[in-house]
Amino acid sequence: MTEQSSTNTTQELHYDPQPIEEKWSARWQKDAKLYAAEPSSSQRKKYYVLEMLPYPSGALHMGHVRNYSIGDALARYMWMRGYNVLHPMGWDAFGLPAENAAIKNNVPPREWTLSNIENMKSQMKRLGFAYDWSTEITTCFPDYYRWNQWFFLKMLERGLAYRKKSKVNWCPECATVLANEQVVGGCCWRHEQTPVEQRELEQWFLRTTNYAEELLRDLDGLDGWPEKVRTMQRNWIGRSEGASVDFKVEDSEEKITVFTTRIDTIFGATSVQLAPEHPLVAKLVGENAHLSAKVQELIAEQRKAKEAGNVGAIEKHGVATGRFAVNPFNGEKIPIWVGNYILIDYGTGAIGSVPAHDERDYEFAKKYGLEIRIVIMPRHEEGSNANADEHVLPFTAENSLLINSGEFSGLSSQEAQTRMAQFAEQHGFGKATVTYRLKDWGISRQRYWGTPIPVLYCEKCGIVPVPEKDLPVVLPDKVEITLQGGSPLSRVPEFVNAKCPKCGGKARRETDTMDTFVDSSWYFYRYTNPKLDDKPMDTATIFYWFPIDQYIGGVEHAILHLIYSRFWTKMMRDLGLIKNSEPVARLFTQGMVIKEGAKMSKNKGNVVAPDDMIAQYGADATRLYTLFAAPPDRDLDWQDAGVEGVSRFLGRVYRFVMKHGKACATDRWETAIFMAGAVGAERDIQRKLFQTIKRITDDFDGRWHFNTSIAATMELVNELYLFFEGEVHQQGEKSTRIPPPKVAQDEFVQGVLRYLVLLLAPFAPYLAHELWETLGEKSNLLRHPWPKYDAALAKEDEVEIAVQLNGKVRVRMLVSADATENALKEQIPNDEKVRVLLEGKQVVKVIAVPGKLVNIVVK
Ligand SMILES: [Zn+2]
Ligand SMILES: [Zn+2]
Repeated sequence: MTEQSSTNTTQELHYDPQPIEEKWSARWQKDAKLYAAEPSSSQRKKYYVLEMLPYPSGALHMGHVRNYSIGDALARYMWMRGYNVLHPMGWDAFGLPAENAAIKNNVPPREWTLSNIENMKSQMKRLGFAYDWSTEITTCFPDYYRWNQWFFLKMLERGLAYRKKSKVNWCPECATVLANEQVVGGCCWRHEQTPVEQRELEQWFLRTTNYAEELLRDLDGLDGWPEKVRTMQRNWIGRSEGASVDFKVEDSEEKITVFTTRIDTIFGATSVQLAPEHPLVAKLVGENAHLSAKVQELIAEQRKAKEAGNVGAIEKHGVATGRFAVNPFNGEKIPIWVGNYILIDYGTGAIGSVPAHDERDYEFAKKYGLEIRIVIMPRHEEGSNANADEHVLPFTAENSLLINSGEFSGLSSQEAQTRMAQFAEQHGFGKATVTYRLKDWGISRQRYWGTPIPVLYCEKCGIVPVPEKDLPVVLPDKVEITLQGGSPLSRVPEFVNAKCPKCGGKARRETDTMDTFVDSSWYFYRYTNPKLDDKPMDTATIFYWFPIDQYIGGVEHAILHLIYSRFWTKMMRDLGLIKNSEPVARLFTQGMVIKEGAKMSKNKGNVVAPDDMIAQYGADATRLYTLFAAPPDRDLDWQDAGVEGVSRFLGRVYRFVMKHGKACATDRWETAIFMAGAVGAERDIQRKLFQTIKRITDDFDGRWHFNTSIAATMELVNELYLFFEGEVHQQGEKSTRIPPPKVAQDEFVQGVLRYLVLLLAPFAPYLAHELWETLGEKSNLLRHPWPKYDAALAKEDEVEIAVQLNGKVRVRMLVSADATENALKEQIPNDEKVRVLLEGKQVVKVIAVPGKLVNIVVK
């Protein structure tokens, strides 16, 4: 930067982001090591910042840009703070859309996926995100998914992977099995209009329920996670304490195990209710065609309610089987019913119905005229005679005493719950149990584009795991994809037909592939050492980098991805691979990007494409806008005028620095900023600068309200224009010009410009780098220390306080900013202006709040 540039005309100072950004983008891409983390032997403190890896759908959308802009600003800030930063990116590359695209456009899934990755990667590079591409992960490559297979074998060895026949959710549109989590309101999560059907298939499961208790308990320690996410996970795990009790079926060897959270009310059970899909129902109903038909109706009703997503609100129907069960507590025979309000996947799919003390049971009993028997009494009625008419039925008070309950009568409900569960256990017909809503994770998918499950089925040996040395089981390339049911792999004889590794005989390969949530359950470990080929990860390296310091992504992943990841971490810890029990220390879930109040979608025609924004305003303005337009945890309603405003702001910065910037020795400008005893314009700017640094630093370290950080920088720039250009900038209106005040000394001005550039570096890296170089600075801006501020010099010298008489504001005045309570009490009543107000009055009391107000109570 030379003297001449300050004589540039406005025309020459026009801010054109394109050549600047293209120049720097090319430079950054040439430097492969630029964003690489130091090895885990580094003496620096580590910081692992991670954004959720995207599905390579074809192009980035604005939600991605927002997500990555937050992470990138944080990564750049932490580099400037001197941390060893790991900031990787990869591709969640398996999944159904590739297969759908294959059918639609006749492109092989692999080709489609890889070309999408190429495009999205170049978009990320153009946006200037600071990823270390040398650690990139693509989950559809065998060197990644072989470890999915390896983990599967380890789990199979330990009984954590198993196979069972089970009803599965089937989306006819996807022609595949869906996880429970992928069923939304009874419909497919990808096809919101397609009701999910039920089918029975042999499936592979992972025993997530083995970790249910730990998954729940450890949530308490995740205080760096949003409370709403922890609550969602708690509800998803759905722990309930209770007891199981076996009811013998009369004239039969069968028994029905019911689960109850209120064993203290079991003397009030007047029927047993089975879920229509309970395995015993078929046996009890036998050949009775009328009953069978009724049960089918109940199943159909339940399914319809499931599809509509309102099982809880279902109109209750049922049918008596004509059979009886014996309540083991009192030997009483009670009828066995089948009820459409009992779900097979909650508890044991059977309940002892206690109409007096359960709302749903009550509604059912009223409808079918079943006995309603009161067996608990709210505590305050102790001693009075129980009478059904005196209570509003049903009532469920926990704080109750038992009545009509044999030897347990008179106990408190709480005590009875313990004692009755013990009694059941002693007599061999039940015990205290805990149930979870969380189910084992069904990972089988009848799809092509996923990790092959590494097992074989031998005619002689049965299920045989693929030996570790034969991994990976590679997904074949030339496979015809159709929407017909069953995995496309089953139609590839070269894949299916194999030799049994045990006996050498004929075997068939498993043709199901794994749920793609397997891929994303542990990918962030692999980033630390993506090329290891003899193990999935290195224990010592993981020990250095984990847990992830900051994970950033959409709240839609609050349950599935994050529960599976936590499960996987605990499983890997138990394999001895890692030492941490949780993968993520701090989690941030950003809001959505919407437009005109609605989610962006092609159908609504309200999509804003990142490429268009980059072409029009540049990457910096696009990124900066996604951070400026709303606090990052809130939804951002896209406004075209807003991007334009941000772009104008960057132009103001550019022109200001270009006009006033000069070469200046580093030690000189750094010292100049911190000078003591500055006065006038210099003091005002110094204070504003330090206040801005403080605000941005506090935001990074705290609430992440980058919108206010950026607003603070805008204020600082306005102030600079005011002092040096004599201009009051008013957004959207004509600027007013006033004559510039006294010009500050050169080195101080140069320091201010450089600090401004440093403050912008995490948010608008292209412009910041360009200006840094133009100012003649030789250091690497990416690693330049983050600006410091002097807290004392950031303080306002004077603040305005309100002076009140009997609570009413009478006058405002400037006082020293650090005036104490006592000083104010002393000084204010003696002030010239206040003394006039106090004439003829008697001061009773003076109350002072430093920095805010002084209230004088008078008579
Ligand atoms: Zn579907
Ligand atoms: Zn065999």
